[in-house]
Amino acid sequence: MSGQRLFLFALLGLFSSCVAVAQQQQPMPPAAEQPHVIPPPDPPRGGPQITFNSVYVEEPYVAITFDDGPHATLTPKLLDMLAARKLKATFFVIGKNAVEYPQIMKRIVQEGHELANHSWSHPNLGKMGDDGVRSQLQKTDDAIKAAAGARTTLFRPPYGSITPRQKQWIYDSLGYRTIIWDVDPFDWKRPGPGVIRDRIVTQSRPGSIILLHDIHPGSVEAVPQTLDQLTAKGFKFATVSELLAMAKTPPPKPKATVTPIPHTRTGEPVTPPPSPSPTARRATTPAASPATAPPSSPRPAEPTGTPRG
Ligand SMILES: [Zn+2]
Repeated sequence: MSGQRLFLFALLGLFSSCVAVAQQQQPMPPAAEQPHVIPPPDPPRGGPQITFNSVYVEEPYVAITFDDGPHATLTPKLLDMLAARKLKATFFVIGKNAVEYPQIMKRIVQEGHELANHSWSHPNLGKMGDDGVRSQLQKTDDAIKAAAGARTTLFRPPYGSITPRQKQWIYDSLGYRTIIWDVDPFDWKRPGPGVIRDRIVTQSRPGSIILLHDIHPGSVEAVPQTLDQLTAKGFKFATVSELLAMAKTPPPKPKATVTPIPHTRTGEPVTPPPSPSPTARRATTPAASPATAPPSSPRPAEPTGTPRG
């Protein structure tokens, strides 16, 4: 082998080890900097429902959820906005942030909001082994218990990345139900508070689970008008656990040829249906009942027709 070629090989070797080190050391991008994808519905398998994108409710309730915090300044600001309106929300916290801001965690609980698990460091769980996933959830579980005095049974995978098999063992061994969403304003792309507000107000239906992030200033800035406009349309707010507890079994679908409103929604941005009144009930996600029952209790099968939000 010529000296020149040896040199090239050495250079290539050095380059690839640098890349490997860089990949190892590179932390995941800050939370919510990647697209969030609604995972495909679970195959029918019997047993209790363990994944929820939305629920069927008979009252115009929605759950507004905030991911990736707590944030040092934005979360307290958001809590002020919620307190001023006496509304409750659900916070899917990152464990690392939870231990950094124990006072904010305590405030979330004291003011009647719900804490839920969004992993320890926001990795792509769908690509991780079971031990790593278990550690991500358990450490966050511990952080939530330390702050709230009780553990949560709600979990949301970062980026919506999770496999059906993972969801099942996470439920079986940790008791976690997987909470996705059906209203996504894509606030992580920072489209501006007005766009975020309009998307949420347009897309929300009774039983909706709304996705937001309390780590972006524009998202928090969108909150007051979003809450006020949803309230003006007749919506009420519940935590995710409260919403799941309200879940009812939807009535049988009519045989008429009229397409149900939620089935027309295919992606973002969503065109508003002609009559977005809260009384227009959704009939897409069969409800679990009772939703808060322990893992062993029987519940209806997983939905197969959940729309992509
Ligand atoms: Zn997230």
